[in-house]
Order: sequence, then C-alpha cells, then structure tokens
Amino acid sequence: GRCTAECPANQTGKKLSPRKIMMDTRDRLEEVGKNINKNGKFEDDGKQLLDDYILREELWACTTCNACVEACPVGIDPLSIILDMRRYLVMEQSAAPNELATSLTNIENNGAPWPYNQMDRLNWAKEN
Ligand code: SF4
Repeated sequence: GRCTAECPANQTGKKLSPRKIMMDTRDRLEEVGKNINKNGKFEDDGKQLLDDYILREELWACTTCNACVEACPVGIDPLSIILDMRRYLVMEQSAAPNELATSLTNIENNGAPWPYNQMDRLNWAKEN
C-alpha cells in the first residue's frame, strides 16, 4: 500500500488508489484464468476490467507523477496499467475527457495545445 500512501491524487481526495488498480487487475486476471481453465477458451462472462472493476474516473484522476512506481520496493508499476487503459479509451473509443479532447484537437491543428494559428505565434514579440 505504499503506492497509495504516496499518491497525490489519493491524498487530495480523488477517487484513485494505485493499489486498488493493481488488485482489480489481479482479480480480473484470476477470473479470466479460471474461465479459460473451465471452458478450454475464454467464454464471454459479460464483464471487463474497464468499468466493471476500474472506473474511468479513477483513470483520469492520475497525474502520471510516477510516485507510486518509485515507492514500490518490489518494482510494481500501476502507472503502466493506467496509461494503457487511458490509451485504449482515447485510441479505440475516442472517449477522452472534453478538456483533453480540446487540447488534442489543438495539437493536431495548431501544433500546440492552445487555440491559436501557428502563423500568429510570434505576434507577442511585436506587441509594445
Ligand atoms: S502516477 Fe498516478 S497513481 Fe501513481 S502516484 Fe502518481 S497520481 Fe497516483
């Protein structure tokens, strides 16, 4: 639990515990393993790690500060799970939070997270 004790999101009351992310992932993996052992292959059980175990609110509460990874004495990395699940949400479901979607669109269009044309970038230097 050292990860959760160090987590700034958890400390400020956000719905995120890196330890819970690890425990949820382990629980789901065990469940999938038992399912495969029983059926010879994975039979859909109507559940998935995302939403049934780990909520989107938990994933987006992470600041990606890496404190949980540094705090772990045995090198467990909850952040990699958080990043992969976020990546899935953005790449596969286009389900980034609104604030982030706006920044991503701006980066795509303007090469920066702000809503200004690249041609206007040096305007500040001309101001008196
Ligand atoms: S990387 Fe995310 S989960 Fe880990 S300590 Fe920082 S805010 Fe918490």
